[in-house]
Amino acid sequence: MIAARHIRLIAVGMSTLLFACAPKDGREASAAPGSHPLITLDSHDDIPLDFATPSVDPASADLQVNLNKMKSGGLNAGFFIVYVGQTARTEENYAKAQADAETKFAAIHRMADELYPDRIEIAYRADDVARIAAAGKLVAAIGIENGFVLGKNLEKLEKYYGLGARYVTLAHNGNNDLAGSAQPRPELGDAAEPTLGVTALGAEAIARMNRLGIMVDISHGSKQTALDAMRLSAAPVIASHSSIAGVSAHARNLDDETLRALRDDGGVVQVVAFDTYLRHQSDEELAALRALRERVGFTAGGAAALPPDRRADYDSGLREIQAQWPLATVRDLVNHIDYAVKLIGVDHVGISSDFGGGGGVVGWNDATETGKVTAELRARGYSDEDIAKIWSGNLLRVWRAVETTAAQLKAAAH
Ligand SMILES: [Zn+2]
Repeated sequence: MIAARHIRLIAVGMSTLLFACAPKDGREASAAPGSHPLITLDSHDDIPLDFATPSVDPASADLQVNLNKMKSGGLNAGFFIVYVGQTARTEENYAKAQADAETKFAAIHRMADELYPDRIEIAYRADDVARIAAAGKLVAAIGIENGFVLGKNLEKLEKYYGLGARYVTLAHNGNNDLAGSAQPRPELGDAAEPTLGVTALGAEAIARMNRLGIMVDISHGSKQTALDAMRLSAAPVIASHSSIAGVSAHARNLDDETLRALRDDGGVVQVVAFDTYLRHQSDEELAALRALRERVGFTAGGAAALPPDRRADYDSGLREIQAQWPLATVRDLVNHIDYAVKLIGVDHVGISSDFGGGGGVVGWNDATETGKVTAELRARGYSDEDIAKIWSGNLLRVWRAVETTAAQLKAAAH
C-alpha cells in the first residue's frame, strides 16, 4: 500500500486555506471488484470524422469497434475519442480543430442518444459505467485526444466537459500550447528533442480540469510533461494508451521512473495494444517499410489516402513485411502488463486498444476478440479480482478520485 496523502494549498480569495485532500489515489472509494461481474473497459477507441452518419453505422460499420462487435466480444465499455491532429498553431487551425472536435462529439451523441439509445449510453460519471452495464447496455465514455483543440482558450474546457469529455490528452504528435510531446515535430517549429514539459497555460488547464472533474491524460506527452502533470494535478492522472519502455524502448512508452511516479500519484497506465510500441522493430524492418512507402507514394494521409490500385500494392507489400517480421500478439501485450504490474502493482495498470487509431495486435485486433485478452491474463495466473481491476476497476478508481477532487475544490472555493 502506498500512503499518497497530499496536503495542498489552495488560495481562496484573500485568505489561504490549508486543505487536506483525501488520498490522491482515492483508493478507499473503489468497490470490491471481485463481488461484481467483470466490466471490460477499453480506454481509447478512435472514431472517423463521418462516424454515425449514413456511411458509418456505429452498430455495424467496418471498424475495429462497433456495437455488434462490442456485444459479441464482451467489450462492455469504451472511451470514444474526440481526436484532432496537431497542425501549426494558428487561429485558423484552432478553429478547424474545434470544428472537427464538435463533429466528433455530435457523432458520439448521435450514436448513443438518437440512433441506439437502447444499446449504448454515455457515462458522465464513473459510477454510471456499472449502472449502465448492469442494465444490459454498452457504455460510451468520451475522451479528447490532443489539448491542441483548446488553442489558447481554456474556457473551451467547460464546453467540452458539458459535452461529456472526461479526459483530455494534453499533447499528441508535436508540441502544443499546453505541453511538450514525446514526439516533437521540427517541421512545426518544435525543438527536435522531447524536453518541453507542461507550459504555464498547460498548468492553468490542469487546474481547470481538476475543478471540472476531467482526468488529465499524459499519453503522447514527453517524460517532462508526464512528471509535470503529476506534480501539478490535484488529482491522480492517467496514461490512456501507453506501453512500457522497460519491455520495449519507444518514445511513446513510459519508463520505470515515470511509472513509479504514476504509482505514487495514485494513477494508472492503460497499456495499449499497439504493435510498434509492444515489440522492437529492427533497422531492417524499418528500412523495408520506408522503401514500401516510397514505392507507393505514401503521404501524410497514410494508407487511407492512397488511390485503390496503389492501396492494393501497399497492402500486399505490407503483408510480405509482416510475414518476415511478425506483428505483436496478445502475449506481447500481456508481457507489458506483467512488467508494469511487477514494477508498480496491480492497482495501477489497465488496458486500451487504440482501435481506429492504429491499434490492434494478433489476437486482439477488434472488439470481437476481447475475451482473448482476459484468457491470456488468466493463463498468467491473475485472479478474477486482479483482472477486474486491470479491465476497469483501476481506471474507474482514478475517475472517482478526480470527481472527488473536483467536488472538494468547488466546496473550498465557496
Ligand atoms: Zn494516440
